[in-house]
Amino acid sequence: MDLPKHKTCYRALQSRDARFDGLIFVGVTSTGIYCRPICPARTPKSENCRFYRSAAAAQEAGFRPCLRCRPESAPDWSSWRGTSNTVSRALALIAEGGLDREGSGVEALADRLGIGERQLRRLFLQHLGASPVSVAQTRRVLFAKQLIHETRMPMTEIALAAGFGSVRRFNEVFRNLFHRPPRALRRKIIASDANAEAGVSLRLRYRPPYDWDSILQFLQKRAIAGVELIENGKYLRTVEIDRNIGSIEVTHLPEQNSLGVRIRFPDVRAFPRIVARIRRLFDVGADIETIEQHLSTDPLLAPLVARRPGLRAPGGWDGFELAVRAILGQQITVAGARRLAGQLVAIYGQRVSADKVGHNGLTHVFPTAKVIASAVAIGIAMPKSRQESLKALAEAAVADPGLFHPFRGIEESITRLRSIRGVGEWTAQYIALRAIRETDAFPATDIGLLRGAATLYDGASTAAALLDRAESWRPWRAYAAQHLWAANSVAI
Ligand SMILES: [Zn+2]
Repeated sequence: MDLPKHKTCYRALQSRDARFDGLIFVGVTSTGIYCRPICPARTPKSENCRFYRSAAAAQEAGFRPCLRCRPESAPDWSSWRGTSNTVSRALALIAEGGLDREGSGVEALADRLGIGERQLRRLFLQHLGASPVSVAQTRRVLFAKQLIHETRMPMTEIALAAGFGSVRRFNEVFRNLFHRPPRALRRKIIASDANAEAGVSLRLRYRPPYDWDSILQFLQKRAIAGVELIENGKYLRTVEIDRNIGSIEVTHLPEQNSLGVRIRFPDVRAFPRIVARIRRLFDVGADIETIEQHLSTDPLLAPLVARRPGLRAPGGWDGFELAVRAILGQQITVAGARRLAGQLVAIYGQRVSADKVGHNGLTHVFPTAKVIASAVAIGIAMPKSRQESLKALAEAAVADPGLFHPFRGIEESITRLRSIRGVGEWTAQYIALRAIRETDAFPATDIGLLRGAATLYDGASTAAALLDRAESWRPWRAYAAQHLWAANSVAI
């Protein structure tokens, strides 16, 4: 997206237009502060305003984040596609720490995406107005700022959680930026804030509308016993990252256009990754307005979109887990696949204690690829060929830990996945859609999709006909698929 004209941006600022929130940031030259367009502070003079496409660009230009409108709580557009899928894939990798670890520089990132380093920098400049490194740095600062404001975590833990190498570095960055130490930014704790429950609570803002009921229903139908739980309108699950075990709890805060998240996890350094995964699972960063506008141009799809405004495309919590689900789901019902997944977890998943995860209904973590790969026989009731593909998948995942991360383009991801024994076109497209988050993935042979399409029009009984029709839904076919699935579940 190009930055709108100064006049348009300024008008958005004057009217505190929420549609521009997260899309543009304004740096005010007279104060040195940058804000969201909805900032409650008095509107600065037009000639003092500089507009930017990202918080990173404003920060790179020397502005510091406003303490009133808090740029860190603007909706995050990390999965915004614009005209560059490469930028979106890069942002997804950065969100999972792609530039935080040692030996993971911009060059390695560009390499993974199949382009040169200079080209990646150029694309970032064009679409975000900032370099990849400054996007990663701004992310760290803003995440730390969010933790300072919204939690009671000690500063030393926040420094670690946000990916600062040391507390000294954290203090230094904050002093430079805000001219005061980090703890001075913390507001006084109000009594009602001081709830005794364990874990760290955060809010993730989305751009409305958000169809929470549909996504919760989707997850409920697929919830694996012991690993996931839907209760009182909340989604809970166990999580395992780098051998540490904890849990997350996600709820809807419609008045705040946010999801409320509670994380229980022993290692705070995993927080950015956990948050990135929750964003992916709940498709928090979708540019829903653009997507719905586009899909509504097809007269057959328009009524579906109108019926479910804000319908999201749920991601997968973990690539391997999602791929296992896809294989278990080959040629059987969602309920059947869910049962098999439960059996698999009962045999191979590590048991967890309730005091670690905070709920009696959460009893296991999903088995790792390593455990499945080393199993002699899978031992659950399904055809031998599918047991073999499950093992082949696990072996492939052990051999290449990046198998389920964005990689160059969708075609290349599909090809790589299809080279695994037992992974056909449907399975590969399904994995691409939910695990790799390719917004144009489309498992056209899916029976649910075909049925959903059949409720719309007659000529949709074959995958070829559906694919043909879906051409005009590009690059958002994943969302069209979600609408068709939803239509089918109502039809049943
Ligand atoms: Zn502000």
